[in-house]
Amino acid sequence: MSNVETEPAELKCGAAVDGGHPADTPGVEVLTAREVPLGGPRAMLVRRTLPQRSRTLIGAWCFADHYGPDDTATTGGMTVPPHPHTGLQTVSWLFSGEIEHRDSLGSHALIRPGELNLMTGGYGIAHSEVSTGRVHVLHGVQLWVALPGEHRNAPRAFEHYAPAPIRVDGAEIRVFLGSLAGSTSPVHTFTPLLGAQIVLDPRASVTLALDASFEHGLLVDSGDIRMLDTLLHPTELGYLPDGTDLMTLRNASDSAARAILLGGPPFGEEIVMWWNFVGRSHEDIARAREDWETSSDRFGVVRGYPGNRLPAPALPNATILPRSNPPRR
Ligand code: MN
Repeated sequence: MSNVETEPAELKCGAAVDGGHPADTPGVEVLTAREVPLGGPRAMLVRRTLPQRSRTLIGAWCFADHYGPDDTATTGGMTVPPHPHTGLQTVSWLFSGEIEHRDSLGSHALIRPGELNLMTGGYGIAHSEVSTGRVHVLHGVQLWVALPGEHRNAPRAFEHYAPAPIRVDGAEIRVFLGSLAGSTSPVHTFTPLLGAQIVLDPRASVTLALDASFEHGLLVDSGDIRMLDTLLHPTELGYLPDGTDLMTLRNASDSAARAILLGGPPFGEEIVMWWNFVGRSHEDIARAREDWETSSDRFGVVRGYPGNRLPAPALPNATILPRSNPPRR
């Protein structure tokens, strides 16, 4: 997916010690989503919980969009023309629907529910994403992972993995990145990461062992879920700082509840995000934009997409808008 805001802010992200929330706020912090139009004539809306003013990263997770369930006959579905990425990996995860992916590595894949599709756009990649007409309810998440400095120019890659669901008492879990509840994804990441779908039975609870060096985020898709002592509603993202090694989730609703659990050790670097680029400086971003606009071979060519590529927005006139995570506790 692309960030198709027409005037995207340039965000400086990281664990800087200035700004943010008080350091002594205990427990789970609730991040609410803002609605962002994805573009296209009928402008499908996505709910963005990362990055935001109070938190820009959870581990290396730097972007979280949640969308649907949308009837594609009403919204027009997802049509994102070829656009570039740098310095990040994209994670596509569907609950329902089907998306046709094409990228400048030559990949042509169908993204389907319960299957991880991980695209690495280190130095530069381009891709398009179009929902197909075969499935009419589009529902899922699009997540980005920031690459650490030493791997931020990693070569293009596209990986697919369909995790087998595991049953634990009260829940079904699909671990697509990292390890949880005895299930481990074989997919390589450049920093330690966790990504998993958790479906809780009605009124059920589950206690999960966490890596205490990770901070975690729980993005609730459906149902009301109590994360430790904090009740989270659909579309909310509960943030749990590192230092916790056990977490109980409780489904407070009478039907099944679904959420995505993200985690990773606090990302130790500051990054600058603008449009679809992750860099380390304003100059990195300006160069990437210039390379896209001049059709440099940095990003390659997406073949088979029936239409024009997405032009980059104008760079902001303002200087970098600094955003940072709250100080470590
Ligand atoms: Mn994209």
